[in-house]
Amino acid sequence: MPQRSQYNIDIPSTNILSYLFPENSIPSEKPLWIDSVNPNSKSLSPKQLRYWCKRVGHGLRSRYGLQDGDLVLMLSNNHIFIPVAYLGVAGAGLIFSGCNPSYTTREIARQITDSCCKIILVEPGLSGVALEAAQAASFPTKNILLFSDAPCDSQSGLLDWQTALPDTREAQSWRWPPLTGKCSADTVAVLNYSSGTTGLPKGVMISHRNLIANVEQSIFMRNLPESSTAGQQDERWLGFLPLYHAYGQLWTILAACRMQTPCYMMSKFDLMAFLSNIQKYRITHLQTAPPVIVMLAKRPECNSFDLSSLRNIVSGAAPLANTLQNEVSDKYNLRIVQTYGMTELTCSTLHVPGNLDDRSGSVGLIDPNDEVKLLDNQGREVAMGERGEVWVRGPNVCMGYWRNPTANAETFDSDGFLRTGDVAVRDDRGWYWIVDRIKELIKVKGFQVAPAELEAVLLEHPGVADAAVVGLKGEHEEQPMAYVTLKTEALGKLSETALREWVNAKVARHKHLTGGVYFVDIIPKSPSGKIQRMTMRTWAAEKAKEM
Ligand code: AMP
Repeated sequence: MPQRSQYNIDIPSTNILSYLFPENSIPSEKPLWIDSVNPNSKSLSPKQLRYWCKRVGHGLRSRYGLQDGDLVLMLSNNHIFIPVAYLGVAGAGLIFSGCNPSYTTREIARQITDSCCKIILVEPGLSGVALEAAQAASFPTKNILLFSDAPCDSQSGLLDWQTALPDTREAQSWRWPPLTGKCSADTVAVLNYSSGTTGLPKGVMISHRNLIANVEQSIFMRNLPESSTAGQQDERWLGFLPLYHAYGQLWTILAACRMQTPCYMMSKFDLMAFLSNIQKYRITHLQTAPPVIVMLAKRPECNSFDLSSLRNIVSGAAPLANTLQNEVSDKYNLRIVQTYGMTELTCSTLHVPGNLDDRSGSVGLIDPNDEVKLLDNQGREVAMGERGEVWVRGPNVCMGYWRNPTANAETFDSDGFLRTGDVAVRDDRGWYWIVDRIKELIKVKGFQVAPAELEAVLLEHPGVADAAVVGLKGEHEEQPMAYVTLKTEALGKLSETALREWVNAKVARHKHLTGGVYFVDIIPKSPSGKIQRMTMRTWAAEKAKEM
């Protein structure tokens, strides 16, 4: 039997904006998102947020002609207006899709084409790459708008997003669609990209109800034993997780807004700025990923800052060894716990409850209303304490992949459970530990690297006959590495370095083949032609031992 959470909560079925701004409530005027570089001149309160969401949502529909289900792509680093775009777009019945700002032209062009976006909002500093990508994807440049936290001059023919917004009076009188009942579950709010268990990155359809469910579930778990979603009054957060990713969106945008917790926004992660912001703003809580925990343990710079305000760190997005977890917990005298999730689960499904500590590396208990089953490779549920693949069902499980019935058929079973590609064990108290990942996905610094994408780039090289990409596992990190078979005419002429450079020039930095390229005579395949990933992993493990 699947294990059901011991908790059950009510999840409102409504528009994400109605959830955050209930009818007749008076939004606070206290700063919620505060620019960490210019805290006095740049901040947004919930009241300002609601105002701007109305201008953006109504503006996109009335001035740009967008209709229900049309998609807006965001290409930007973090700033305090990203939550405006995220909530304004979704709240208007449109779809928000974030694109990694470190992507190359071809990666952005792919997301433009795959998502069928109607408008691109771009940070002014990225307008060059956005224009190149638009050209590659035959996307009309008139539908690209500069999007920043302050009005900016037009650039390369691109206009500022504020140029054509409705005025205050018109925006104030606009009402967002209520999306009550089934509409909340049936209306896509966000399309984040993930490769899932196999293949290329795919758009993951997240509904309004998915968002509301996962905010309620996550806050419920962290606030235990208080079963309320109110914020603790004295918390201060740091917004460095990227807002194109589910993890950043859930905490920095949605939970911060729901809990009314001030969040100091950083454009992206930078160790010195991170440490100095913790000290300067007396940050109390961090939502983060293992690479940051590694830095807190190892980097000498950390010792030059007063980090004593920190009370609680949550680590997710990739495996974290409990030895490291405990080292950092002891060094800074704070609580560190792990959470588990994936883009397809809106963000998360397992949390260590807020009233409990953990030193064992557990990812905790099942979130309210969710069910988890652990299956062996024959599809049978495993006994307690045995390893099994994690399958999840619940209100935070995504609606499916965007225009991709094949991927949907491979990912969901007939009972609506989502296959995660991760392996876990459970104990008799219902606590879980993630012990392996059996899907193709490689994680670098918490970011996704889809082997199929790098294999496709390698196969574009005229000298390559076949290729397989796999993760080379180090102590705390994975590195993408490639095994390549060359065409006869390329033998002795094409070097491993040249191929590595070929790939690195075409993809974002975290996808670079830092684990190396190795020539082999043959890539092992199954009779149906699929790469035998288990064999590749064994090869990679052997290689790791040699290093
Ligand atoms: P993403 O969709 O980018 O959030 O990546 C989801 C994947 O990250 C999961 O399927 C896991 O493989 C991995 N992951 C997330 N959280 C954890 C965790 N706490 N421990 C181990 N792996 C994790």
